[in-house]
Amino acid sequence: MKLDTAQFSDSDAEDVKPHEGAISVCFQCGHIHAFGPDLRFRPLTDAEIVEIAGDPEIVLIGNIRGPLRDLMSTYKTLSPEEVQRRIAFLVEQINKAERRKHAGN
Ligand SMILES: [Zn+2]
Repeated sequence: MKLDTAQFSDSDAEDVKPHEGAISVCFQCGHIHAFGPDLRFRPLTDAEIVEIAGDPEIVLIGNIRGPLRDLMSTYKTLSPEEVQRRIAFLVEQINKAERRKHAGN
């Protein structure tokens, strides 16, 4: 199975349609599911878990999900400098993921 990362691409949500075998990451808790033939969530198979463990986009989501959620819920109470610092952190994680992708691992 080739990992299909369409479910967490940054394209418009309208363009992203669930399909069998696609992987979905819960933004709230980080839980990872796959879509089954009926397009309902099913647990990952062992092979899928092994395959996605080092996927750069999965690693990226793991690294930014918590900080992004935190920023979204608290930004109104933060100083502009703090918001900027946190956004810089997120951008750095995204850039690192891009470099990992191009390095092929
Ligand atoms: Zn969840």
